[in-house]
Amino acid sequence: MSDVTVIGVDELTALVAGILANAGFGPDHAGAIARTIVAGERDACKSHGVYRIEGCLRTLKMGKTVPDAVPVLHRDDSAVVRVEAGGGFANLALETGLPALVERTRALGVAALVINDCTHFAALWPEVEALAGHGLASIAMCPSYATVAPVGGSQPLLGTNPFAFGWPRPGEFPYVFDFATSVAARGEIELYRRAGKQLPEGWAIDRDGNPTTDPAQALDGAMLPFGGHKGSAISTMIELLAGAMIGDFTSPQALEFLGTTTIALRHGELIIAFDPARLSGGRGDPLVRGELLIEAIAGQGARLPSQRRFAARRQSLADGIRLTAEEMAELSRLRQGGLDAVR
Ligand code: NDP
Repeated sequence: MSDVTVIGVDELTALVAGILANAGFGPDHAGAIARTIVAGERDACKSHGVYRIEGCLRTLKMGKTVPDAVPVLHRDDSAVVRVEAGGGFANLALETGLPALVERTRALGVAALVINDCTHFAALWPEVEALAGHGLASIAMCPSYATVAPVGGSQPLLGTNPFAFGWPRPGEFPYVFDFATSVAARGEIELYRRAGKQLPEGWAIDRDGNPTTDPAQALDGAMLPFGGHKGSAISTMIELLAGAMIGDFTSPQALEFLGTTTIALRHGELIIAFDPARLSGGRGDPLVRGELLIEAIAGQGARLPSQRRFAARRQSLADGIRLTAEEMAELSRLRQGGLDAVR
Protein backbone atom coordinates (compact mmCIF):
# COMPACT_ATOMS: atom_id res chain seq x y z
CA MET A 1 0.00 0.00 0.00
CA SER A 2 1.31 3.46 -0.92
CA ASP A 3 2.01 5.67 2.11
CA VAL A 4 1.01 8.77 0.15
CA THR A 5 -2.56 9.80 -0.66
CA VAL A 6 -3.06 12.20 -3.55
CA ILE A 7 -6.15 14.32 -3.09
CA GLY A 8 -7.62 17.24 -5.06
CA VAL A 9 -7.99 20.74 -3.59
CA ASP A 10 -11.80 20.61 -3.64
CA GLU A 11 -11.95 17.16 -2.12
CA LEU A 12 -9.56 18.10 0.69
CA THR A 13 -11.44 21.35 1.32
CA ALA A 14 -14.69 19.42 1.71
CA LEU A 15 -13.00 16.93 4.03
CA VAL A 16 -11.50 19.64 6.26
CA ALA A 17 -14.73 21.66 6.29
CA GLY A 18 -16.55 18.48 7.32
CA ILE A 19 -14.19 17.93 10.25
CA LEU A 20 -14.67 21.51 11.42
CA ALA A 21 -18.45 21.44 11.01
CA ASN A 22 -18.66 18.09 12.77
CA ALA A 23 -16.74 19.60 15.70
CA GLY A 24 -19.22 22.46 16.01
CA PHE A 25 -18.14 25.26 13.68
CA GLY A 26 -20.92 26.95 11.72
CA PRO A 27 -20.86 26.10 8.01
CA ASP A 28 -19.57 29.54 6.93
CA HIS A 29 -16.66 29.37 9.36
CA ALA A 30 -15.95 25.73 8.52
CA GLY A 31 -15.74 26.63 4.83
CA ALA A 32 -13.58 29.74 5.29
CA ILE A 33 -11.14 28.04 7.69
CA ALA A 34 -10.94 24.97 5.43
CA ARG A 35 -10.13 27.11 2.37
CA THR A 36 -7.25 28.76 4.27
CA ILE A 37 -5.87 25.49 5.63
CA VAL A 38 -6.04 23.76 2.25
CA ALA A 39 -4.38 26.77 0.57
CA GLY A 40 -1.48 26.31 3.00
CA GLU A 41 -1.28 22.58 2.31
CA ARG A 42 -1.54 23.19 -1.47
CA ASP A 43 1.39 25.65 -1.29
CA ALA A 44 3.59 23.32 0.79
CA CYS A 45 3.30 25.57 3.83
CA LYS A 46 3.06 22.61 6.15
CA SER A 47 3.12 24.77 9.27
CA HIS A 48 -0.23 26.27 8.17
CA GLY A 49 -1.77 23.21 6.55
CA VAL A 50 -3.79 20.28 7.91
CA TYR A 51 -1.53 20.25 10.96
CA ARG A 52 -3.49 23.32 12.15
CA ILE A 53 -6.90 21.61 12.30
CA GLU A 54 -6.41 20.18 15.77
CA GLY A 55 -5.39 23.62 17.10
CA CYS A 56 -8.61 25.09 15.70
CA LEU A 57 -10.61 22.35 17.41
CA ARG A 58 -8.68 22.79 20.67
CA THR A 59 -9.45 26.52 20.61
CA LEU A 60 -13.14 25.69 20.30
CA LYS A 61 -12.95 23.02 23.00
CA MET A 62 -11.38 25.52 25.41
CA GLY A 63 -14.17 27.99 24.72
CA LYS A 64 -11.79 30.57 23.25
CA THR A 65 -13.58 31.11 19.94
CA VAL A 66 -17.19 31.70 18.91
CA PRO A 67 -17.87 28.99 16.30
CA ASP A 68 -20.93 30.62 14.78
CA ALA A 69 -19.96 34.30 15.12
CA VAL A 70 -21.35 36.47 12.34
CA PRO A 71 -18.76 39.06 11.22
CA VAL A 72 -20.23 42.54 11.10
CA LEU A 73 -19.03 44.88 8.35
CA HIS A 74 -18.83 48.63 9.06
CA ARG A 75 -18.14 50.87 6.10
CA ASP A 76 -18.83 54.44 5.13
CA ASP A 77 -17.29 56.86 2.64
CA SER A 78 -13.99 57.01 4.58
CA ALA A 79 -10.83 54.97 3.97
CA VAL A 80 -11.42 52.68 6.96
CA VAL A 81 -13.36 49.46 6.57
CA ARG A 82 -13.90 47.58 9.83
CA VAL A 83 -15.07 44.05 10.46
CA GLU A 84 -16.07 43.06 13.98
CA ALA A 85 -15.34 39.34 14.01
CA GLY A 86 -17.21 38.82 17.29
CA GLY A 87 -14.68 36.32 18.60
CA GLY A 88 -14.92 34.12 15.52
CA PHE A 89 -12.08 33.04 13.24
CA ALA A 90 -10.49 35.75 11.09
CA ASN A 91 -10.88 33.82 7.84
CA LEU A 92 -14.60 34.57 7.45
CA ALA A 93 -14.10 38.14 8.68
CA LEU A 94 -11.48 38.64 5.97
CA GLU A 95 -13.77 37.26 3.27
CA THR A 96 -16.47 39.61 4.58
CA GLY A 97 -14.28 42.72 4.48
CA LEU A 98 -12.15 42.26 1.36
CA PRO A 99 -14.67 43.42 -1.28
CA ALA A 100 -15.26 46.68 0.62
CA LEU A 101 -11.50 47.20 1.04
CA VAL A 102 -10.99 46.78 -2.71
CA GLU A 103 -13.80 49.21 -3.47
CA ARG A 104 -12.55 51.85 -0.99
CA THR A 105 -8.96 51.56 -2.24
CA ARG A 106 -10.05 52.05 -5.85
CA ALA A 107 -12.15 55.05 -4.82
CA LEU A 108 -9.56 56.75 -2.59
CA GLY A 109 -6.16 55.39 -3.64
CA VAL A 110 -5.38 54.07 -0.13
CA ALA A 111 -7.66 52.28 2.34
CA ALA A 112 -7.41 50.02 5.39
CA LEU A 113 -9.28 46.98 6.60
CA VAL A 114 -9.33 46.61 10.37
CA ILE A 115 -10.45 43.26 11.73
CA ASN A 116 -11.27 43.32 15.44
CA ASP A 117 -11.76 40.59 18.00
CA CYS A 118 -10.85 37.63 15.82
CA THR A 119 -9.37 34.20 16.41
CA HIS A 120 -6.27 33.90 14.24
CA PHE A 121 -3.92 31.07 13.28
CA ALA A 122 -3.04 31.71 9.67
CA ALA A 123 -0.32 33.01 7.40
CA LEU A 124 -0.89 36.49 5.96
CA TRP A 125 -0.06 35.84 2.31
CA PRO A 126 -3.71 34.97 1.44
CA GLU A 127 -4.63 38.57 2.30
CA VAL A 128 -2.02 40.32 0.18
CA GLU A 129 -2.32 37.82 -2.66
CA ALA A 130 -6.06 38.38 -2.87
CA LEU A 131 -5.51 42.14 -3.12
CA ALA A 132 -2.78 41.74 -5.74
CA GLY A 133 -5.36 39.76 -7.72
CA HIS A 134 -7.33 43.02 -7.87
CA GLY A 135 -4.28 44.98 -9.04
CA LEU A 136 -3.60 46.46 -5.58
CA ALA A 137 -0.41 46.58 -3.52
CA SER A 138 -0.83 45.92 0.20
CA ILE A 139 0.70 45.21 3.58
CA ALA A 140 -0.82 43.05 6.32
CA MET A 141 0.22 42.59 9.93
CA CYS A 142 -0.99 41.30 13.29
CA PRO A 143 0.40 40.70 16.78
CA SER A 144 0.79 37.22 18.27
CA TYR A 145 1.49 35.80 21.78
CA ALA A 146 4.22 37.43 23.88
CA THR A 147 7.11 34.99 23.35
CA VAL A 148 9.80 37.34 21.97
CA ALA A 149 11.98 39.70 24.02
CA PRO A 150 12.80 43.14 22.63
CA VAL A 151 16.50 43.44 21.78
CA GLY A 152 18.31 44.57 24.92
CA GLY A 153 15.41 43.33 27.10
CA SER A 154 15.12 40.13 29.08
CA GLN A 155 11.48 39.00 29.10
CA PRO A 156 8.94 37.89 26.45
CA LEU A 157 6.88 40.93 25.47
CA LEU A 158 6.54 41.05 21.69
CA GLY A 159 4.91 38.41 19.50
CA THR A 160 6.33 36.59 16.49
CA ASN A 161 4.26 39.26 14.70
CA PRO A 162 3.94 38.34 11.01
CA PHE A 163 4.25 40.94 8.27
CA ALA A 164 3.28 40.45 4.62
CA PHE A 165 3.56 42.51 1.44
CA GLY A 166 1.98 41.96 -1.95
CA TRP A 167 2.62 43.67 -5.30
CA PRO A 168 0.67 42.87 -8.46
CA ARG A 169 2.58 41.53 -11.44
CA PRO A 170 1.52 40.67 -14.95
CA GLY A 171 1.25 36.92 -15.38
CA GLU A 172 0.34 34.21 -12.99
CA PHE A 173 1.73 35.26 -9.61
CA PRO A 174 2.33 38.52 -7.71
CA TYR A 175 5.42 39.50 -5.72
CA VAL A 176 4.67 38.43 -2.14
CA PHE A 177 6.63 38.05 1.04
CA ASP A 178 5.26 36.99 4.38
CA PHE A 179 7.36 36.30 7.45
CA ALA A 180 7.42 36.25 11.23
CA THR A 181 9.47 39.05 12.78
CA SER A 182 11.09 36.63 15.25
CA VAL A 183 14.34 34.99 14.20
CA ALA A 184 12.65 31.57 14.29
CA ALA A 185 9.26 30.10 15.02
CA ARG A 186 8.69 28.71 18.50
CA GLY A 187 7.85 25.36 16.92
CA GLU A 188 11.29 25.24 15.37
CA ILE A 189 12.92 25.63 18.79
CA GLU A 190 10.78 22.73 20.00
CA LEU A 191 12.08 20.62 17.08
CA TYR A 192 15.69 21.36 18.14
CA ARG A 193 14.82 20.31 21.69
CA ARG A 194 13.31 17.02 20.54
CA ALA A 195 16.33 16.34 18.32
CA GLY A 196 18.71 17.07 21.24
CA LYS A 197 20.42 19.75 19.15
CA GLN A 198 21.79 23.16 20.21
CA LEU A 199 20.23 26.28 18.70
CA PRO A 200 22.23 28.60 16.46
CA GLU A 201 23.53 31.61 18.41
CA GLY A 202 21.35 34.69 18.44
CA TRP A 203 17.99 32.92 18.46
CA ALA A 204 17.03 33.10 22.12
CA ILE A 205 17.73 34.13 25.70
CA ASP A 206 17.13 32.22 28.96
CA ARG A 207 14.72 33.36 31.68
CA ASP A 208 17.43 35.63 33.16
CA GLY A 209 17.97 37.36 29.83
CA ASN A 210 21.30 35.66 29.04
CA PRO A 211 21.97 34.39 25.50
CA THR A 212 21.38 30.64 25.22
CA THR A 213 21.71 27.89 22.62
CA ASP A 214 19.91 25.38 24.86
CA PRO A 215 16.41 24.90 23.39
CA ALA A 216 14.85 24.01 26.76
CA GLN A 217 16.20 27.20 28.31
CA ALA A 218 15.06 29.14 25.26
CA LEU A 219 11.50 27.81 25.61
CA ASP A 220 11.60 28.80 29.26
CA GLY A 221 12.98 32.23 28.34
CA ALA A 222 12.28 34.14 25.14
CA MET A 223 12.96 34.16 21.42
CA LEU A 224 14.65 37.14 19.77
CA PRO A 225 13.47 39.29 16.86
CA PHE A 226 15.18 38.89 13.48
CA GLY A 227 17.70 41.52 12.46
CA GLY A 228 18.61 42.77 15.94
CA HIS A 229 17.33 46.25 16.80
CA LYS A 230 15.73 46.60 13.33
CA GLY A 231 13.47 43.57 13.70
CA SER A 232 12.71 44.59 17.28
CA ALA A 233 11.48 47.98 16.05
CA ILE A 234 9.41 46.48 13.20
CA SER A 235 7.81 44.06 15.64
CA THR A 236 7.05 46.95 18.00
CA MET A 237 5.50 48.87 15.11
CA ILE A 238 3.17 45.92 14.47
CA GLU A 239 2.12 45.89 18.16
CA LEU A 240 1.38 49.62 17.92
CA LEU A 241 -0.43 49.68 14.56
CA ALA A 242 -2.26 46.33 14.66
CA GLY A 243 -2.81 46.24 18.43
CA ALA A 244 -2.83 49.56 20.25
CA MET A 245 -3.98 51.69 17.30
CA ILE A 246 -6.91 49.51 16.22
CA GLY A 247 -8.12 49.05 19.79
CA ASP A 248 -7.24 45.39 20.03
CA PHE A 249 -4.95 43.06 21.99
CA THR A 250 -1.20 43.47 21.93
CA SER A 251 0.79 40.24 22.27
CA PRO A 252 1.02 40.31 26.11
CA GLN A 253 -2.73 40.94 26.32
CA ALA A 254 -3.44 38.10 23.86
CA LEU A 255 -1.35 35.68 25.93
CA GLU A 256 -3.04 36.81 29.14
CA PHE A 257 -6.48 36.29 27.57
CA LEU A 258 -5.63 32.82 26.23
CA GLY A 259 -3.39 31.60 29.04
CA THR A 260 -1.55 29.25 26.66
CA THR A 261 0.28 29.22 23.33
CA THR A 262 -1.30 25.91 22.30
CA ILE A 263 -4.49 27.38 20.83
CA ALA A 264 -5.23 29.87 18.07
CA LEU A 265 -4.59 33.51 18.85
CA ARG A 266 -7.10 36.21 19.71
CA HIS A 267 -6.33 39.75 18.53
CA GLY A 268 -6.97 42.07 15.58
CA GLU A 269 -5.43 42.47 12.15
CA LEU A 270 -4.58 45.47 9.97
CA ILE A 271 -4.45 45.38 6.18
CA ILE A 272 -3.57 48.51 4.20
CA ALA A 273 -4.10 48.54 0.44
CA PHE A 274 -2.74 50.92 -2.20
CA ASP A 275 -3.90 51.50 -5.76
CA PRO A 276 -0.59 51.87 -7.67
CA ALA A 277 -2.21 53.71 -10.57
CA ARG A 278 -3.69 56.33 -8.23
CA LEU A 279 -0.49 56.80 -6.23
CA SER A 280 1.71 57.11 -9.32
CA GLY A 281 0.00 60.35 -10.29
CA GLY A 282 0.62 59.56 -13.93
CA ARG A 283 4.42 59.47 -13.47
CA GLY A 284 4.86 56.29 -15.48
CA ASP A 285 3.20 52.91 -15.14
CA PRO A 286 4.15 51.70 -11.64
CA LEU A 287 3.68 48.03 -12.54
CA VAL A 288 5.97 48.33 -15.55
CA ARG A 289 8.56 50.12 -13.40
CA GLY A 290 8.14 47.49 -10.69
CA GLU A 291 8.70 44.72 -13.21
CA LEU A 292 12.05 46.20 -14.21
CA LEU A 293 13.23 45.84 -10.62
CA ILE A 294 11.74 42.42 -9.93
CA GLU A 295 13.07 41.00 -13.19
CA ALA A 296 16.51 42.43 -12.43
CA ILE A 297 16.48 40.67 -9.06
CA ALA A 298 15.44 37.37 -10.59
CA GLY A 299 17.88 37.99 -13.44
CA GLN A 300 20.76 37.85 -10.97
CA GLY A 301 19.67 34.33 -10.05
CA ALA A 302 18.17 35.47 -6.74
CA ARG A 303 15.13 33.54 -5.59
CA LEU A 304 12.04 35.67 -5.25
CA PRO A 305 10.00 35.29 -2.07
CA SER A 306 7.01 32.97 -2.59
CA GLN A 307 8.78 31.31 -5.55
CA ARG A 308 8.98 28.02 -3.68
CA ARG A 309 5.36 28.32 -2.63
CA PHE A 310 4.11 29.12 -6.13
CA ALA A 311 6.03 26.16 -7.58
CA ALA A 312 4.37 23.91 -5.00
CA ARG A 313 0.98 25.36 -5.91
CA ARG A 314 1.49 24.65 -9.61
CA GLN A 315 2.37 21.06 -8.80
CA SER A 316 -0.56 20.58 -6.38
CA LEU A 317 -3.04 21.98 -8.88
CA ALA A 318 -1.69 19.77 -11.63
CA ASP A 319 -1.17 16.54 -9.70
CA GLY A 320 -3.14 16.90 -6.46
CA ILE A 321 -2.05 17.45 -2.87
CA ARG A 322 0.08 14.69 -1.38
CA LEU A 323 -0.68 13.69 2.21
CA THR A 324 1.21 11.11 4.22
CA ALA A 325 -0.46 8.08 5.82
CA GLU A 326 0.01 9.80 9.20
CA GLU A 327 -1.74 12.94 7.97
CA MET A 328 -4.64 10.92 6.54
CA ALA A 329 -4.93 9.00 9.83
CA GLU A 330 -5.02 12.31 11.68
CA LEU A 331 -7.82 13.61 9.46
CA SER A 332 -9.78 10.42 10.03
CA ARG A 333 -9.21 10.57 13.81
CA LEU A 334 -10.45 14.17 14.00
CA ARG A 335 -13.39 13.46 11.67
CA GLN A 336 -14.58 10.59 13.82
CA GLY A 337 -13.75 11.93 17.25
CA GLY A 338 -14.59 15.63 16.87
CA LEU A 339 -13.70 17.62 19.99
CA ASP A 340 -13.25 14.38 21.98
CA ALA A 341 -10.27 13.54 19.75
CA VAL A 342 -8.40 16.71 20.67
CA ARG A 343 -5.19 16.01 22.57
P1 NDP B 1 10.00 31.93 6.15
O1 NDP B 1 11.25 32.46 6.75
O2 NDP B 1 9.90 30.48 5.88
O3 NDP B 1 9.68 32.68 4.78
C1 NDP B 1 9.45 34.06 4.77
C2 NDP B 1 9.30 34.59 3.36
O4 NDP B 1 10.57 34.62 2.75
C3 NDP B 1 8.40 33.77 2.44
O5 NDP B 1 7.72 34.65 1.60
C4 NDP B 1 9.41 32.90 1.70
O6 NDP B 1 8.97 32.45 0.42
C5 NDP B 1 10.56 33.84 1.57
N1 NDP B 1 11.86 33.17 1.49
C6 NDP B 1 12.30 32.13 2.24
N2 NDP B 1 13.55 31.80 1.87
C7 NDP B 1 13.91 32.65 0.89
C8 NDP B 1 15.08 32.83 0.10
N3 NDP B 1 16.14 32.05 0.26
N4 NDP B 1 15.09 33.80 -0.83
C9 NDP B 1 14.02 34.60 -1.02
N5 NDP B 1 12.88 34.48 -0.29
C10 NDP B 1 12.83 33.52 0.64
O7 NDP B 1 8.74 32.40 7.03
P2 NDP B 1 8.54 32.46 8.61
O8 NDP B 1 8.98 31.19 9.25
O9 NDP B 1 9.09 33.72 9.15
O10 NDP B 1 6.92 32.55 8.66
C11 NDP B 1 6.16 31.47 8.16
C12 NDP B 1 4.69 31.82 8.17
O11 NDP B 1 4.22 31.89 9.48
C13 NDP B 1 4.31 33.15 7.51
O12 NDP B 1 3.35 32.84 6.51
C14 NDP B 1 3.69 33.97 8.63
O13 NDP B 1 2.59 34.77 8.23
C15 NDP B 1 3.22 32.88 9.55
N6 NDP B 1 3.11 33.38 10.93
C16 NDP B 1 1.85 33.61 11.42
C17 NDP B 1 1.72 34.06 12.72
C18 NDP B 1 0.39 34.37 13.27
O14 NDP B 1 0.32 34.75 14.42
N7 NDP B 1 -0.69 34.27 12.53
C19 NDP B 1 2.90 34.28 13.59
C20 NDP B 1 4.14 34.06 12.94
C21 NDP B 1 4.23 33.59 11.66
P3 NDP B 1 8.45 30.90 0.22
O15 NDP B 1 7.13 30.85 0.93
O16 NDP B 1 8.35 30.74 -1.25
O17 NDP B 1 9.47 30.00 0.84
